[in-house]
Amino acid sequence: MKYERQPYRRCGRSGLLLPAVSLGLWHNFGEGKPLETQRAIVHKALDLGITHFDLADRYGPPIGAAEAAFGRIFPKSLRDEAVITTKGFNPMWDGPYGTGGSRKHLLATLDRSLARLQLDFVDIFYLHRDDPDTPLQEQVAVLDHMVRTGRALYVGVSNFSPERTAEAAALLRDLGTPLLVHQPSYSMLKRDIEDELLGVLEREGMGCVVYSPLAQGLLTDRYLNGIPADSRAAEGRFLTPEGVTPEVLAFVRELSALATARGQSVAQLALAWALRDPRVTSVLVGASSPEQLESNVAAVDRLDFTAEELAAIELAAKK
Ligand code: NDP
Repeated sequence: MKYERQPYRRCGRSGLLLPAVSLGLWHNFGEGKPLETQRAIVHKALDLGITHFDLADRYGPPIGAAEAAFGRIFPKSLRDEAVITTKGFNPMWDGPYGTGGSRKHLLATLDRSLARLQLDFVDIFYLHRDDPDTPLQEQVAVLDHMVRTGRALYVGVSNFSPERTAEAAALLRDLGTPLLVHQPSYSMLKRDIEDELLGVLEREGMGCVVYSPLAQGLLTDRYLNGIPADSRAAEGRFLTPEGVTPEVLAFVRELSALATARGQSVAQLALAWALRDPRVTSVLVGASSPEQLESNVAAVDRLDFTAEELAAIELAAKK
């Protein structure tokens, strides 16, 4: 691994450092993607100083495929140089224990993840979302148990509201296990964490690892000349062609001019923008090729913004 390419930022008030740009394996690590491409993306990440790999039990398709691929690809000799995460909550198998925030489901799904990943422990286990049908006390007690039994070094929550995050942090503090990090969605197109959540995380000393900072590829030049056949929008699972609206394209064209003036691509501008707030520890990007990843990490070469540039982005967003 190379550790000069990008800065490492402290995850809240913990001892853990994470790279400014991290790799997520939600897409591009399932069927339909050659194993050689998957391998090339992971190895490129390692070359770029990406020490942080984000997974979840369900990532694929099929379910579990991304963890199984990563387990095969990741060189075990580098285990101590990497932070590997997974999550639980979503439907994984049939019956009443195949999903949700119960102790019964979460421990089983983590054990299955560890088997697929070929690991003894993950560095961070996340509650993928809040389960309104399971007492929060039970959900966080499982996290504490995972740490105490050595299955996870740290724990986090994803997609939790500001109020429930503060509640979970307080409950875990009482149990003696800190809540390390929150993983919310954040991009120029989805900014709700600015209202309350970032303040809660700062008060709690938690880090913030943001997902879909490129809005699944919308905040890049990918769609400026139509919808490429090999793009996520063409695939149509989570981003659909209808999501590529004229309004988004007009916004991206405005960003494009600003990015060029800064010597960046639109994607690099969008990532630098998401990292402008020091409370954001890391941006979790996806990449369908090693080249995309390399270009995205180059966002760190220009992280500073002038007040005028920020104002221009606000103005473009309001149009
Ligand atoms: P991004 O917003 O970074 O979108 C990634 C996609 O954008 C790529 O697959 C690619 O799409 C396109 N792209 C990336 N770089 C470029 C580039 N330089 N130029 C042009 N297009 C580019 O993130 P994701 O939505 O993939 O999410 C990232 C990670 O966040 C996930 O892998 C997962 O780990 C995590 N996540 C967590 C969630 C949660 O609930 N906790 C939910 C969603 C994600 P294309 O395939 O078209 O090339």
